[in-house]
Amino acid sequence: MPELPEVETVRRGLQPVMEGAKIVTAEARRGDLRFPFQPDFVKRLQGQTVKGLGRRAKYLLADLGSGDVLLMHLGMSGSFRVVKPDHEERPGEFHYPRGKDSVHDHVVFHMSSGADIVFNDPRRFGFMKIIGRGEIEHEPHLKDLGPEPLGNEFDAAMLARACAGKKTSLKAALLDQRVVAGLGNIYVCEALFRAHLSPRRLAATLATRKGEPTDHAKRLVEAIHTVLNEAIRAGGSSLRDHRQTTGELGYFQHSFQVYDREGEPCRTDGCEGVVKRFVQNGRSTFWCPKCQR
Ligand SMILES: [Zn+2]
Repeated sequence: MPELPEVETVRRGLQPVMEGAKIVTAEARRGDLRFPFQPDFVKRLQGQTVKGLGRRAKYLLADLGSGDVLLMHLGMSGSFRVVKPDHEERPGEFHYPRGKDSVHDHVVFHMSSGADIVFNDPRRFGFMKIIGRGEIEHEPHLKDLGPEPLGNEFDAAMLARACAGKKTSLKAALLDQRVVAGLGNIYVCEALFRAHLSPRRLAATLATRKGEPTDHAKRLVEAIHTVLNEAIRAGGSSLRDHRQTTGELGYFQHSFQVYDREGEPCRTDGCEGVVKRFVQNGRSTFWCPKCQR
């Protein structure tokens, strides 16, 4: 499932062809994705100018001239592709990666910029929904989300407050979207490794008795910032279905320090440990038991 860096990569790919452009026509080629499309979905999009394209956690939000907001989620396998007119007429040049057959092109926006924006989603766990701008704070998908990990409000003090007294593991706490929004399995494993903290450590140990941040909390916030920023710069990680809107692969997977490296030597300077894997909350955790405490 795409995590924050992958969704941010998609946002940056769509921004130049969406922002300031009008959705001349929109096509929903089937009745549903994960949820049915609203009956007036196409009508509320057509003729609208996209004022801005933002992101909240793993959701993309397109602000429309009408005051509506188009909420978009990639699900497990959703991807956007930008097709420019000069690319379309050259047969053979544009080929679909495996699993991106055009039969799964479910939504198309024909933009006044000349570009077509195509949403492809073989497994159809993604969704699109139009909401009024005033309804955003009540929107069920958004209302319980915690702070953005790269936003100004997310710091060691805030993380410590969210984790104080928590009897869950640090790994589980970081995956909890109410504690911090947009992190998934890959980047939580990577951040914990870089902070030298065990995924099994109690979340409560990020706070002192008075609820103030410990050094662990400070180290962890720094590691989260570093790993997310590096991943965004690399265009995300191309595992399973993630591609940039140009069809290019992200390459952060080559920078994984622990994720998917079971049995390989630890990359911490001077550590002679070996990366281990175990299943935690139903997902694989990768870590070095020697230098993550
Ligand atoms: Zn190690």
